Amino acid sequence: MVHFVGAGPGAPDLITVRGKQYLEEADVIIYAGSLVNPQLLEYSKDVCTIYNSAKMTLEEVISVMEKAEAEGKTTVRLHTGDPCIYGAIREQMDILDEKGITYDSCPGVSSFCGAASALNLEYTLPDISQSVIITRMEGRTPVPEKESIQSFAAHNATMVVFLSTGMLDELSRRLIEGGYRPDTPAAIVYKATWDDEKKLICTVDTLAETAKKNHITKTALMIIGDAVKGARYERSKLYDPEFTTEFREASK
Ligand code: SAH
Repeated sequence: MVHFVGAGPGAPDLITVRGKQYLEEADVIIYAGSLVNPQLLEYSKDVCTIYNSAKMTLEEVISVMEKAEAEGKTTVRLHTGDPCIYGAIREQMDILDEKGITYDSCPGVSSFCGAASALNLEYTLPDISQSVIITRMEGRTPVPEKESIQSFAAHNATMVVFLSTGMLDELSRRLIEGGYRPDTPAAIVYKATWDDEKKLICTVDTLAETAKKNHITKTALMIIGDAVKGARYERSKLYDPEFTTEFREASK
């Protein structure tokens, strides 16, 4: 059995109870060493074999899983944040399917949620934005043409940009070209929930200089939209005294 487990954004106590239990029971752990907090490995049992996938190819990862399976062992594949976001899990699962190896997924706290908690943000403010766009600039992995930053920017919704810290001049250019005001509030959150977390509030047109000034070149999220700061939003209907809900009668 292989468990794909979300490690959470960084702080070791932000793994789920279920994820921690899988780590405690695992005979083999393959963790994404570039971003998973190594403190999580302290939950493993003494006889557990641990591999850092940052130094491995997909084939090597699969061969470790296959060997463990043949020996009747349980493997945890530990991914940063939640495995469903830029986790490269599908390609592993498809090969496991071919080999008849069973697996399941245990969710984790994605870094975009960790970053919101770092800033005490609500991404979905009434009257400001009711959508969160999760995207990235293209790198070695291309982004489909129809998903350009400009096209998403046209919505002026809350946007969270992954995997793009080295391209902030170009990101700003595209965000403004697409329709955000240059002074739209933005944030850069570096290593959200880690001990060395940094959180910086800026604007769309100052993303690059803010990152540069603070020596941030990787492991950061850019959050864009009026939800980041100072927006005048509507109160929620759910807690409005004049509004009846399934659980509460309106007071007048
Ligand atoms: N599955 C992960 C994302 C993996 S892609 C998740 O759900 O969070 C790796 C990218 O995620 C990094 O380049 C960075 O943009 C972002 N990232 C991961 N952990 C982060 C953290 N603690 N703080 C800020 N950004 C983070």
